[in-house]
Amino acid sequence: MSKQVALAINGGPRVVQKPLPDFKNASGRSLGDEELQELRDVLDSGALAYICGTKVGEFERAFASAYGAKFAVSASSGTAALHIALLYLNPEPGDEVIMSPITDMGAAIPVMAQLAIPVFVDVRPEDQNIDPQKIEAAISSRTKAIMVTHIYGNPADMDAIMAIARKHNLFVIEDCAQAHLTRYKGQLVGTLGHLGCFSFQQSKHMTTGDGGMVISNEDSRFGRELRLCMDKAWPRSKGGRDHLFLAPNYHMTELQAAVGLAQLRKLPRLVEARRRAGDRLSQLLSSCKGVRAIEVDTSHTSTYFFYSFTVDLDALSVKGAEFVSALNAEGVSCFLGYPGKIPLYKYPVIKNAQTFGSSGLPFTLAAPGRNWNYDDNLCPNAERLCQQTVCLWWNEKLSDEHVDEISAAIHKVADAFAD
Ligand SMILES: *Cc1c(COP(=O)(O)O)cnc(C)c1O
Repeated sequence: MSKQVALAINGGPRVVQKPLPDFKNASGRSLGDEELQELRDVLDSGALAYICGTKVGEFERAFASAYGAKFAVSASSGTAALHIALLYLNPEPGDEVIMSPITDMGAAIPVMAQLAIPVFVDVRPEDQNIDPQKIEAAISSRTKAIMVTHIYGNPADMDAIMAIARKHNLFVIEDCAQAHLTRYKGQLVGTLGHLGCFSFQQSKHMTTGDGGMVISNEDSRFGRELRLCMDKAWPRSKGGRDHLFLAPNYHMTELQAAVGLAQLRKLPRLVEARRRAGDRLSQLLSSCKGVRAIEVDTSHTSTYFFYSFTVDLDALSVKGAEFVSALNAEGVSCFLGYPGKIPLYKYPVIKNAQTFGSSGLPFTLAAPGRNWNYDDNLCPNAERLCQQTVCLWWNEKLSDEHVDEISAAIHKVADAFAD
């Protein structure tokens, strides 16, 4: 350490004295009378299940309308929403789905659950979204879809991705679990591909505890009927009992939908607060040596799921993990790397095919010559970024003063480690 800065980790005073608002409790979430009123309706009705009540239907219609989508189907989680999208596409075993290794495992699980193979394409260092220039080289005759995560609330390059998809006749699933009301050239992400999937888990822009939604303008001419994919393939609207294909029960409950309806009405405000705080922090960090904010193209709006930035390990005499420990000690809760210190494919479920018994499925279905070595720096940018990205939990209760404190803490830590 070249400068005499009394870091909190070395016994100096903390920059952030009072705890910052936290998504894990009321300090960082906006749950109140509006949600309570909706919940009251459900309890009074005595109908807690989707098949008996009205709130899930109401929530689906309100969500579709907010996005200008023809169809919206609710789900019990974001992972379930993505699985519904995969069930809709109904890939053949061994088909491939192109995706980024910087995303939640909830994006890869549904692919493998449908016996399709996730094919990982590296990210762009400047924003950690999938690199469209690397997609075409990964396409094979077995490629079924491209799954696009809009990472950290910042949109991927959808024009380039959709052009590739059209050229190769591929479906595009947008994983918007971190990107509620994110706009790409003015358009809402989730409406640009064929299917848009959302999560309402506790940490997301709006929450129902757990929950999810799929939106689409595509009808069953292109895939299965979307609603059947979340409901045991049971066409209830036709009366009687029938089960048309293999599909789980991914129902959202009326209680979740009640909270969701109230949260959805607040969503523009919640997202605007996240965006304002995120943009402010990027502005304040522009002068911070050794620290680089995620690039947000001026034609897009990021809605900041995490606030993530990279630490320039050449400019600072520090490892990512030390930077994170020092920042945590200053009172800013953060962690190193997303989805962790390793990209998705290095977790045992994929790397060691911990899937269906000892079968090694779906990876054993790979066509000859399509074998991936998950140990061998498969996506170099992603592997490097996992070691140098600092992620701050973000929420709608962060005021300008909070952001100024967070900035001061980051500046202090970066200064302390500057060469
Ligand atoms: C949260 C998340 C998911 C999974 O959502 P759950 O509701 O936690 O199942 C999927 N993809 C991304 C990018 C996420 O952030």
